[in-house]
Amino acid sequence: MDSRGWLGWDVQEAPRATEEQLHAVHPPAYVESVRAHCEAARPLDGDTPVVPASWEAGLRAAGGACALVDALLDGTAPTGFCGTRPPGHHAEPDRAMGFCLFANAAVAAEHALARDGVERVFILDWDVHHGNGTNAAFHSRPDVLFCSLHQYPFYPGTGPLGDTGSGPGEGFTINLPVPAGSGEPEWLGLVEHVAMPAAREFAPDLILVSAGFDAHRADPLAECNLETDSFRQLALHVATLAADLGVPAGAVLEGGYDVDALAESAVATMEALEAGGTPRSVERGPLVEAAASALRPG
Ligand SMILES: [Zn+2]
Repeated sequence: MDSRGWLGWDVQEAPRATEEQLHAVHPPAYVESVRAHCEAARPLDGDTPVVPASWEAGLRAAGGACALVDALLDGTAPTGFCGTRPPGHHAEPDRAMGFCLFANAAVAAEHALARDGVERVFILDWDVHHGNGTNAAFHSRPDVLFCSLHQYPFYPGTGPLGDTGSGPGEGFTINLPVPAGSGEPEWLGLVEHVAMPAAREFAPDLILVSAGFDAHRADPLAECNLETDSFRQLALHVATLAADLGVPAGAVLEGGYDVDALAESAVATMEALEAGGTPRSVERGPLVEAAASALRPG
């Protein structure tokens, strides 16, 4: 980012999330528990060690996502990217896990929904792991369409195709698992032929991307085979959706553990979100057909 002058984008420091913003997703007792664990440097789970400074980082990751939402909805930024860590999509309302303290994208979505004129938010999660935290936050809600693509079976074990939400939120969760070894045909096909049509029908007022880059072929934590340009294509789908619907879109960083691939893919995502353009079309393929029949029985 730095070597490219941040693409000429306005760089802002992420503010701390307020208690009110956090409590829209996380119960106060959970937030206090995270604070206590950080202060004591006591791990939140086996994958989620913390130190005292983790508290500040966690607050700013969630707060940065909210600031992104404000910039997008105020119209002060045409698009935006939260280059913050820790990531958030594994944090459930009352449970930290998988490097995540607060569910940044979910907190941001709630922050958006608290504003006048925002009734529906679409969250596309292209991190290679299932976004179980976001999934849990909005499982029974019809005002957030959550769509996750992820390697499966894989950490954290959730997110089968058949998990489509519950109660009033039935049909507003779309889980699109892909097998290890999947690359562009699977990922881009599912986004083009399943995620984007569903999002168009949902007609959101805001689009957020949980942008993990660990489905990159260079990533050491997973076994998918996306290229750097694949993330550009994913972002072009999002930019096109946003332009067609006349609503803003922004991205929040999740995972991505090969530093060079992460940097290049994040830049490709930012460039595509800003410039827009037509994504490369791919054939439907068997995963699309399976998802289509599972999500629209009859
Ligand atoms: Zn991940």
